[in-house]
Amino acid sequence: MLDYHPSSDLLKGKVILVTGAGDGIGRQAALSYGAHGATVVLLGKTVKKLEAVYDELQAQGSPEPAIIPLDLQGASKQNYLDMAATLRQQFGRLDGVLFNAGQLGALGPFEMIGEDEWDKVMQVNLKSQFLMTQALLPLLKDSKPAAIIFTSSGVGRQGRAYWGSYAVSKFATEGMMQVLAAELDGTGVRANCINPGATRTHMRARAFPAEAPSSLRGPADIMAPYLWLMGPDSQDTNGQSIDAQPDRVPGASVKS
Ligand code: NDP
Repeated sequence: MLDYHPSSDLLKGKVILVTGAGDGIGRQAALSYGAHGATVVLLGKTVKKLEAVYDELQAQGSPEPAIIPLDLQGASKQNYLDMAATLRQQFGRLDGVLFNAGQLGALGPFEMIGEDEWDKVMQVNLKSQFLMTQALLPLLKDSKPAAIIFTSSGVGRQGRAYWGSYAVSKFATEGMMQVLAAELDGTGVRANCINPGATRTHMRARAFPAEAPSSLRGPADIMAPYLWLMGPDSQDTNGQSIDAQPDRVPGASVKS
């Protein structure tokens, strides 16, 4: 695990967008960014969950956050352009984006993957990030130095039986990050990936229903790379895919 203990003002004055901020890893990342001084823009599907994170950020004394309720499944290019315009108007800047929202889709044999299921997973895990990145890049470039973090997975690096469209979407995410990072090199905007590794969330419980949650690290245990990659201490890091839990074997359920 990355040993990193930044000061509480690491992200002071920064505006950071987190997708899937209402639950799991995204919720924790939003709280951690807020605790380190950032104004966090909470994007997600379930408004109640986003409101709860908003209240937690307020309670911990973080700068006042903002909420963007958006279902990435149905969102269009125009929705993202409108969102970028609103962020520019409201904050005048955007210093970082954590693309964290994701869907597992159905796990099962490749031959059985339904076309609809494939499209849904690709829409949320991949296309939304492509469109959002295009819409947000002008704002990020104006606010440089800026950081984009994508969320990968062990199955986005090594294919695994029955992980179907989810695994393919994560391979594509790694590829998108690499293409983008190469194009952005030297511009002051950086793109990297984090593979969280097995983490105690609803998604993990769906993927491994027989696993004891107590055998896993929780979102709060894996925040070091999320903070490091978002802040200035990683300013020379671009185009990398970082493991939040390098000490564990992909797929394994027992923490080491
Ligand atoms: P959770 O299922 O706990 O949280 C996913 C978040 O994404 C939720 O806030 C959810 O919102 C949001 N989301 C899902 N679909 C949409 C949508 N259509 N529109 C908007 N928001 C949406 O997952 P995790 O926290 O476990 O996963 C976070 C990321 O980490 C994902 O990209 C996942 O693939 C990746 N990952 C996780 C691992 C793990 O072990 N947990 C391991 C490897 C990678 P809502 O709750 O409102 O549905």
